[in-house]
Amino acid sequence: MINIVTNHKIKFALALILCLVSFGQAQTKKPNILVILCDDLGYNDVGFNGSTDIITPEIDKLAKGGTTFTSAYVGHTFCGPSRAALLTGRYTQEIGTPYNLRDDGRATPSGVPVKETFMSTMLHDAGYYTSVIGKWHLGDNPEFRPNNRGFDDFYGFLGGGHKYFPEKYQPYYEKQKAAGAYPINVYFTPLLHNDKEVKETEYITDAFSREAVRVIKESSAKKKPFFMYLAYNAPHVPLEAKEEDLKIFENIKDKDRRTYAAMVYAVDRGVGEIVKTLKATNQFDNTLIVFLSDNGGNFDHGANNYPLKGTKGDTFEGGFRVPMFFHWPNQVAAGAQFDHPVTALDLYPTFAHLAKTKLPKGKKVNGLNIWNDLAANTSPHKNEMIYALRYREGYCDVAARKEDWKITRMGNEPWQLFNITNDMGEHKDLAGQFPERVKEMVAETKEWTKSHITPLWFYSQADAEYWASGRLPNYDDTFEIEKLRMSPIEYQESLEQKKE
Ligand code: CA
Repeated sequence: MINIVTNHKIKFALALILCLVSFGQAQTKKPNILVILCDDLGYNDVGFNGSTDIITPEIDKLAKGGTTFTSAYVGHTFCGPSRAALLTGRYTQEIGTPYNLRDDGRATPSGVPVKETFMSTMLHDAGYYTSVIGKWHLGDNPEFRPNNRGFDDFYGFLGGGHKYFPEKYQPYYEKQKAAGAYPINVYFTPLLHNDKEVKETEYITDAFSREAVRVIKESSAKKKPFFMYLAYNAPHVPLEAKEEDLKIFENIKDKDRRTYAAMVYAVDRGVGEIVKTLKATNQFDNTLIVFLSDNGGNFDHGANNYPLKGTKGDTFEGGFRVPMFFHWPNQVAAGAQFDHPVTALDLYPTFAHLAKTKLPKGKKVNGLNIWNDLAANTSPHKNEMIYALRYREGYCDVAARKEDWKITRMGNEPWQLFNITNDMGEHKDLAGQFPERVKEMVAETKEWTKSHITPLWFYSQADAEYWASGRLPNYDDTFEIEKLRMSPIEYQESLEQKKE
């Protein structure tokens, strides 16, 4: 282990030297920025993070040529709020978007508030050609749609997920439509190019890669840099993969895992095509590629977050710590590993820096520009917590990390404390050993919740009722720590009492 760490450090130092040398050749052009976001991809589901059964050669090549992040967090433990956080640079509770938008096909007037300027608008105003491909999930009323949120080109779907085979979803949709059905499940609706319905013919992961290639080619003809937000819905359910990809993973016995692996492999194939196109259009050397997942893998649907504990939705690490790398030849250290904690909220101010632009007027962000820390291998969040908070049924799951330490409260159980640097799998609760540290971190986290506002929508009637009851906005006993040492019997009794 020590050898590996030392080896990484040497590699980092060498890469850093190369990097600094190249900084000498002042980088004057604004880089292209390509964000590749996977959906529900687990921490251990790419080769560069240790997967042995899923192979991702193209993604790994990029990761190896760039810097991988071992402690990258996203703004929320599931889809919609995590994406809202990424594109606005804000904690989702602070802008009223901590719930997924319902996507049963009923018209909804809700979406991420337009006064929260997306990074796409900032980059568009800074002279970028902007595109989003894939899953949106941030509002489907006209004012919330991609073309009104700073994106020149949109190819994808507006809901929270989609079926993968057009030959299967299109006939179903057409039949429903002909019968006058309402609502029609959004997983079956036609893909959109800007506001126009399209008749897709390819497996949609391949379609999204194809469209990314198209936009990269189109962008190269423009005299401006591009920003592309490529939000694959793979490997989010439904688990549907191409036969040719399934064949590659015949050795995986578990059917869900096999299908999931094949879906990730389809993304990898797309990444290969994208890299080829960037090179062919002479843009590879001037493109920052950021690869990450929107939340942890769901282990009910084939994902693997090892060595992290927990699954999508949890405030254990497995819920919101994700695989991530930055790649940019001569600008981002190659073959390096960055272990300091960072968050997807950092992307907004970091991109502003790279695009040589200021944050939009009046814009508040919760993240930091990490560029200099990345180059120096120093911690950007030395004095700041990175949070995750999820509203459950009348209580909250919460996590807060600062440097080596993390507190979490899951499932209304007592607060736990981990030295997350030494114990990334959260096996050894140290709360009893360091009660003062727990108290301080809980108090700081509670202070943060004062910035939270009433959600602009709720996912369910029950969520709305929990909020209205006052138990969520006041966080009831979430932040009490005196009761944190309840015995299992006491805990059961307290649950019974709550039911009464
Ligand atoms: Ca997701």
